Amino acid sequence: MESIRILGVRVDDVTMDETLAMVSEMVAQGGAHQIATVNPEFVIRAGRDPVFAGVLERADLAIPDGQGLLWAARVLGTPLRARVAGSDMVPLLAERSAREGYSLFLLGAAPGVADIAAERLRERYPGTQIVGTHPGSPRPEDDDLSVALITQARPDVLLVAYGAPAQDLWIARNQVRLHVPVAIGVGGSLDFIAGVQRRAPLWMREHGLEWLYRLIRQPSRWRRMLALPLFAWRVVKVRLQS
Ligand code: UDP
Repeated sequence: MESIRILGVRVDDVTMDETLAMVSEMVAQGGAHQIATVNPEFVIRAGRDPVFAGVLERADLAIPDGQGLLWAARVLGTPLRARVAGSDMVPLLAERSAREGYSLFLLGAAPGVADIAAERLRERYPGTQIVGTHPGSPRPEDDDLSVALITQARPDVLLVAYGAPAQDLWIARNQVRLHVPVAIGVGGSLDFIAGVQRRAPLWMREHGLEWLYRLIRQPSRWRRMLALPLFAWRVVKVRLQS
């Protein structure tokens, strides 16, 4: 697997098919693997938060979520082959779960949302194995209950929807006692599947405008989205200095 660095953060040059195949392999291997869905906000955050940066560095797979990363990779002369969006991956994992027999647990999102997402996935992919859901919270004092529910359900793949960096930190600090082969931070994916948030239309996604759609739908995100122009600025600066 080839990896590149964008402003110091490792990103793996994988396609969706390769990612899905790796998840299956990790399930077969057992152990405890962590997958991060890196986007420009992650990169900016990692630049100021060494703990988060360490978690991304140690992740078994850092997939290129976010069109901004593909742009940056091109500008920096180390192009990535594909965008692998976490939100696209979750339904595909459910499909593979039905086909290959591995099981999923959905942790996070607002109360009730993971249940609806599980229902939708079961309808869409009959035979999909969702062995549990729990909203929990990213607060460490709630870890024990979430971990107890997950270990009882014994999933092969755990999807954690607390947004970054909370979801990735959650996985990193609980992984040793989870006994789950693969844990993935999936951001707002469960909201999209449950239909409580709408995904950007295809043409906007294809033109790299998903961020704009999310800003229009959820204007409260403006502050965290300042990471995007900052990211672009830093990438161009690195390019000009090299
Ligand atoms: N979330 C949660 N508990 C929290 C904070 C967030 O369950 O304390 C959930 C929220 O409901 C949403 C997801 O985490 O489903 C994060 O969504 P967001 O769109 O912010 O994620 P992104 O993909 O942008 O990181």
